[in-house]
Amino acid sequence: METKVREVLPGIFLVHLPLPMRPTIVNVYLLRSGDEWALIDTGLNSPESHAAFDEALREAGCGRDGLRKIICTHHHPDHYGSSKAYAERTGATLYMHPAEVERAQTFVPTERPREVIDFFLTHGIPLHRFVHLPRQSDFWAGLYVTKPPDVLIGDGDRIELGERTIEVVWTPGHAPGHCVLYLRRERVMIVGDHLLPKITPHVGYMPGSVPDPLGDFLDSQRKVQEFDVELVLPAHGGIFADHRHRANQIIQHHQSRLQEMIDILRRQPRTAYDVARQAFGFDSDSPLTYQFPATFETLAHLEYLRHQGRVASDVSEEKTLYRLC
Ligand SMILES: [Zn+2]
Ligand SMILES: [Zn+2]
Repeated sequence: METKVREVLPGIFLVHLPLPMRPTIVNVYLLRSGDEWALIDTGLNSPESHAAFDEALREAGCGRDGLRKIICTHHHPDHYGSSKAYAERTGATLYMHPAEVERAQTFVPTERPREVIDFFLTHGIPLHRFVHLPRQSDFWAGLYVTKPPDVLIGDGDRIELGERTIEVVWTPGHAPGHCVLYLRRERVMIVGDHLLPKITPHVGYMPGSVPDPLGDFLDSQRKVQEFDVELVLPAHGGIFADHRHRANQIIQHHQSRLQEMIDILRRQPRTAYDVARQAFGFDSDSPLTYQFPATFETLAHLEYLRHQGRVASDVSEEKTLYRLC
């Protein structure tokens, strides 16, 4: 693969690493201060990604001992999947939010617990139609080889890198411990998956979720709008400028989805899976890789409405039905 590394501002390098699915690229960032370097997010633990990363280090001029810090915005495979390999071979200190350490456990291969099966069934996912239900640990296996962070980070923390100060801003929603990184002097925000220029990040309610991930996500969009930012460095798509405008668009997108789901429930009470089929326009033959995230995303909206008192859920032995209040 053609190496893609670009110095977007002095000492701030954008690196494209390949992914075997959509989106097909994750942007990771190298920051330099003097002869110290930090890496923001890691890409996957694949030979292709490692080769591209090594080439990028060479092009940027970062020697093997230069990399001192690795900061992961969240636990997803494209952001944290290669943490073990890079931390071990460089001796860099690894930073991540504690809530992400917990969520990373969902990638550990275990038998699917009964609660998870019950969760799928009560929300109307027709499990009987799926002969083999792959676990996410089956799919990711060798691509996700991680190491627990050496340092747990939280909102307002400052990570020093030579002359630079990297401020941690906790932005839960896409993941419960998602953090963006703010360089105040440079007016740069490295936003992980929180604020993407072309696609809206997935926000799902799934087994083990916090009570209201969409509520958290919308609050986090408003939170980043309070910062003075000139350049936004996202994990997918091109770098962009107007973070407040993009955050407003994302908030608006979810407001429209919420309204759409209210309209669907106006006709009759439904399971989350039924609402998802209508809102996202799929049927039970559509790929599972679409049906599951769409149902989790729908649940995040329905649970948000429930916390707002606009929707209620009736739980019977068989199903959970959502209805308007
Ligand atoms: Zn993500
Ligand atoms: Zn991502």
